[in-house]
Amino acid sequence: MSQITRRDLIKLFGAGAAASTGLLGASKQAYAKSSAHIVIVGGGIGGAAFAKYMRLANADVKITMIEPNPQYTFCPGSNEILSGHETLENLTVNYNTLKSRFNIDVVQDIATEINYEGHQISTIRSGQISYDKLVVSPGPDFDYQFVDGYDAELAEGDFPHAWKAGPQTLKLKQQIDSMRQGGTMVISAPSNPYRCPPAPYERASFIANMLKQSNPTAKLLILDSKTSYVFQNHFEHYWKQHHNFGQENARIEWVSAKKGGTVIKLDAAEKIVTTVGGEKIKADVINIIPEEKAGRFAIANGLALGKNWVPYEPKTFASKVHPDVYVIGDTVDAPMPKTGYVASNQAKVVAAAINDLLAGKEPGTPFITNNCVAMAGEDYGMTITATFRYTGETKGKGFLTQVRTSKISENPSVNRIRAEVAKNWQRTFRKDMFS
Ligand SMILES: Cc1cc2nc3c(=O)[nH]c(=O)nc-3n(C[C@H](O)[C@H](O)[C@H](O)COP(=O)(O)OP(=O)(O)OC[C@H]3O[C@@H](n4cnc5c(N)ncnc54)[C@H](O)[C@@H]3O)c2cc1C
Repeated sequence: MSQITRRDLIKLFGAGAAASTGLLGASKQAYAKSSAHIVIVGGGIGGAAFAKYMRLANADVKITMIEPNPQYTFCPGSNEILSGHETLENLTVNYNTLKSRFNIDVVQDIATEINYEGHQISTIRSGQISYDKLVVSPGPDFDYQFVDGYDAELAEGDFPHAWKAGPQTLKLKQQIDSMRQGGTMVISAPSNPYRCPPAPYERASFIANMLKQSNPTAKLLILDSKTSYVFQNHFEHYWKQHHNFGQENARIEWVSAKKGGTVIKLDAAEKIVTTVGGEKIKADVINIIPEEKAGRFAIANGLALGKNWVPYEPKTFASKVHPDVYVIGDTVDAPMPKTGYVASNQAKVVAAAINDLLAGKEPGTPFITNNCVAMAGEDYGMTITATFRYTGETKGKGFLTQVRTSKISENPSVNRIRAEVAKNWQRTFRKDMFS
């Protein structure tokens, strides 16, 4: 099959794919276990984890995954590409094992429209695909409207956000590497929610560490649309030790939304960002991480019910639009951080629930965890563990949350061990769904 082009994507989303909603109501279909066909939209972390664990739960069902790309590049670890500690190749996997070992039919295509009543999904090149159960994990979409003058074209050009690991990551690295001595880099961090809450600060930390060696008089300014962020105490602790954070000569500065840090405008020609506080900052490298919302496929098919994120039934992650459609990963409006770990846990919960439903059983009680790791440097890691226990309540978002974050330690070996845990987390996590 030939590559899916940018034109295909514009054709699909530019004109606004027609949403065939309004076909609500519980499905009365009965499934013969061996004949059920489960289709997945998106072969990223959520989609791939679902495919593998659905197969492990049930050897008989037919599983088809629709994904435009022949390979998937992990975002976890991609900040380290910027500092030269990781490579894009190492973070890129293919679908061979899912195909050969787990008997997943991977269709290289773009899913466009769901026919809820007919249980069919349209694709650009492969026509209509019928499903009994549909799992949607298209990741987020970037919402550029909040920064005047910034758009998808500039992101592909001279202002890469690199919030989806790939060619933009390499371009941003090249810009940082060739920044003039004593230059200024700006990172604009988005408001919540967005994928991987600590990642903008991890990115800043890795870049500052690299600049300390290669461009020691350069400055890194984080302009934030938030007033606080996860692991803030850890990052500031580390930056004070390594980058004079909070001092006159700090290498790294953070301007919170409370102090007017939100970036509202980009003058691409002059390389100037304007903040909500009215400050104009000229920079050599500008990295605007855009705001996010549910993936286009989900919004175009009415799954978000006019909102920015997709509402869901907490027990099974079934969509509110149709019970045979399940939504997982960054696109869902769950009371959980938008991380790969959560996406893969949701995938496992949904695989178990679908397997129960196919067998005519009541699905079990979901219990989701998030084991999140981040690094401020190669020798400083931090961890957060959160549990999300299904409450059965219909009010709220249906989960009771408990969170534990690693404490600041003055013992270098503790911080180093946590960094090793973070690195090992990435290695094992990548293997979980693609091998
Ligand atoms: C810099 C950075 C660092 C991160 N670090 C971590 C970390 O350390 N730990 C962690 O847990 N998480 C981390 N994350 C977050 C993690 O990458 C996401 O939460 C995770 O990828 C979400 O999985 P997903 O399946 O929802 O989306 P994705 O993994 O983005 O997959 C979506 C897939 O859907 C496909 N798709 C989209 N539309 C269609 C369509 N119409 N038809 C067919 N396919 C379609 C896409 O091509 C893509 O392959 C990080 C993110 C970033 C940006």
